[in-house]
Amino acid sequence: MTETATGLKTRDEVPKELTWDLEAIFPTDDDWEKEFEALKLDFPKIEQYKGKIAESPENLLNVLKFEDDIRIRLEKLFVYAHMRSDQDTANSKYQDQNARAQSLATHMLSAFSFVTPEILSMTDDEIEGFLNQNNELTHYEKTLRDIMKSRPHVLSDKEEALLAEVSEVTSAPSNAFGMLNNADIEFPTIKDEDGKDVQLSHGRYRDFLDSKDQNVRKNAFNAMYDTFGQFRNTFAATLSGQIKKDNFVAKARNYNSAREAALDQNNIPEKVYDNLVEAINERLPVLHRYMEVKKKALDLDELHMYDIYTPLVDEKISVSIDEAKDYVLKGLAPLGDDYTGILQKAYKERWIDWLETKGKRSGAYSSGSYLTNPYILMNWQDNVDNMFTLAHELGHSLHSYYTRENQSPRYGDYSIFVAEVASTANEALLNDYLLKT
Ligand SMILES: [Zn+2]
Repeated sequence: MTETATGLKTRDEVPKELTWDLEAIFPTDDDWEKEFEALKLDFPKIEQYKGKIAESPENLLNVLKFEDDIRIRLEKLFVYAHMRSDQDTANSKYQDQNARAQSLATHMLSAFSFVTPEILSMTDDEIEGFLNQNNELTHYEKTLRDIMKSRPHVLSDKEEALLAEVSEVTSAPSNAFGMLNNADIEFPTIKDEDGKDVQLSHGRYRDFLDSKDQNVRKNAFNAMYDTFGQFRNTFAATLSGQIKKDNFVAKARNYNSAREAALDQNNIPEKVYDNLVEAINERLPVLHRYMEVKKKALDLDELHMYDIYTPLVDEKISVSIDEAKDYVLKGLAPLGDDYTGILQKAYKERWIDWLETKGKRSGAYSSGSYLTNPYILMNWQDNVDNMFTLAHELGHSLHSYYTRENQSPRYGDYSIFVAEVASTANEALLNDYLLKT
């Protein structure tokens, strides 16, 4: 299908400097295939440790080291495939690569599934004894303590292997949602502020909601949700499938609820979650007062969902990619020369995929692994919101960068609860800089 002038660009229409440099991971797709085949041959060597882990501290150490080695190689394969696939979700070649990486991960999970039960066949005292006997095992102390803590939720060898195999099937609802939301859905063409026809997209939607013209906002909102509405049953089915999967896994692992299971992964008590929700609810009147002010400032009788993102200042501030890069660099200067040096490296070495293109995954994220750069996916629009997203994702990427420079993989896998500290701190610093200048 050829695109109209107002449609989204395809990948090959975008200047190279605005794309991420995934060739730094694998120069060609053939190199990916070679590593894929090599890893397929290497991971079954885990078998040599079967039945022997509890025999000595050295055996325990060696199996954990072997797991690390295989895992970071898998991550590298996976990160490349998922980012290639995200840049154009309709590209069947990378869909296939991504699916094969996922499938390999499932088989590995299954092959490694004896490790945790074997460690758990030892008593806590025996594990502590191993930790005392071998100094190198201290690199795995957190892993071993987490395993000891998980005792009530770990199943038998056979059950663990079955759960690992079935994970490829249970990821179907989430995969189906991604395909529908990113590849198959098509939004209509609507009129922008100047009366020009523009095709609506995930990325452009937010820009329309910033419009001073209520009709533009309203049309964008209706076009977006009418389109989603056409697929309401399919979207509902993917959500329902995901919920059933979460409940199934939680029940199989002896948790009281899916929520308890999800929070337990990050060692977060349910009370913390409840407290967060409670604290937000307590402060809701402040948000409501702000909305009242907004309604008055916008001179509206009724404030609709499509009105709440409109800026209160009259002038819509446009920020280009180059300006945003510069503002972010200046805003984050308090973090030091070392930090801003790495920011410049991120710009220069093309860690960031900037533009929204046809079929590209919506939203923004930071991804990567121990063997790759911490890449960033954006769907850039020239506005302040996107500049903050850039600062936010760079917070994640630099957090990952420093972690991977300074921590072993077992300690580098930071939780989402900690992750948002680095990203929101960056937003606060940028905000402070902009207010001051
Ligand atoms: Zn974040």
